[in-house]
Amino acid sequence: MLIAGNWKMFKGPQETRTFVESFRPPESVDVVLCPPFVSLESAVGGPHAIYAQNVHWESSGAYTGEVSAEMLLEVGVQGALVGHSERRQNFGETDEMVARRARSALDAGLGVIACVGETLEQRESGDTELVLKIQVEAIAYAAGEHEKLVIAYEPVWAIGTGTTATPEQAEEAHRFIKGLIDRPVLYGGSVKPENAAELLAQPSLDGALVGGASLDPDSFAAICHAASRS
Ligand code: PEP
Repeated sequence: MLIAGNWKMFKGPQETRTFVESFRPPESVDVVLCPPFVSLESAVGGPHAIYAQNVHWESSGAYTGEVSAEMLLEVGVQGALVGHSERRQNFGETDEMVARRARSALDAGLGVIACVGETLEQRESGDTELVLKIQVEAIAYAAGEHEKLVIAYEPVWAIGTGTTATPEQAEEAHRFIKGLIDRPVLYGGSVKPENAAELLAQPSLDGALVGGASLDPDSFAAICHAASRS
């Protein structure tokens, strides 16, 4: 089981150090922490893998505001998220950009958690599988079934809303994604200590990508404990 915590734009270097000192997940679970760029150096060097929340496809150049895989590797970062729905929705990330980010990061030696997922409108109009197919195939075409690639299924309507996909909805989407690409698939979308066990008991869930509930060391550790029991 892999449990990743996406801190979004929370926790500067000091709060990151405080979190890492008190966070005690079970050893049987692989844990990834994704702090903001400026806090990465405060997080590396401990027992957990540290991933950035984004990565550019070029190794250097005139790309204001972006950070390359080589720069992340230099500070000890082991991987990056790509294609988070907040990047897709708020910053205009296209499937092509997400695929390029994934491919370059993997080529440079980083691990990648590539996020996909449908909006509520797309689900309600019956387009969930079509959207997942387009998003996953863009990543698979660029990156193949790379051993350091993990997919995160994050239905947009479940992110930060408190509305979680039912275990059956998550299982159905994960099975569909695994039919497109033979890689582990994490579920993300309002995962909390109270619902983690039921979700992670589904056979096609290989772990979770957790936003809000990963900010508190006790609640994130509780999710990791639920994962260790499933
Ligand atoms: C996320 O940011 O990837 C996420 C799943 O957020 P939350 O757990 O808060 O819904």
